[in-house]
Amino acid sequence: MNEHCGRNFDESLLTGYLDGALTQGDEQRVRLHLEDCAGCRRLVEEMRETREATMTTRFATPPDDQWDERPRGAVSGLSRGLGWVLLLAWAAGLTGLVVGHLWTGPESLTEKLIAFGGLSGVALVFLSVVIDRLKTLRTDPYRRVQK
Ligand SMILES: [Zn+2]
Repeated sequence: MNEHCGRNFDESLLTGYLDGALTQGDEQRVRLHLEDCAGCRRLVEEMRETREATMTTRFATPPDDQWDERPRGAVSGLSRGLGWVLLLAWAAGLTGLVVGHLWTGPESLTEKLIAFGGLSGVALVFLSVVIDRLKTLRTDPYRRVQK
């Protein structure tokens, strides 16, 4: 830092000043110092720019981009959609089979309930993933324009 600065407060006060999180007294102290210290004004300006850049970056990359495996073209998009439908049908069929088997099987009621609970959980998670995926597909053109 500039040693001629004469700043008598911690750098964290500058951060707080940016956030508007200071007490009235502290804020006044920072503002007064900023008025006659170009070095600290520049520092605050840099902090503000860094912060805005960080926020912009965060906005541009929504968290579900980690999931992103969007198809590149219309044909692959169609087969991807069909794949999900088939997968969903397969999962539903498999669940039906297992449930039917369990229901008529020799297991005790407790075992059946435990198995049903687990299956329902898996089915719900799977369903939510599929729904999310369909939503992503639907908003796809918009997102591509945004990038
Ligand atoms: Zn200063």
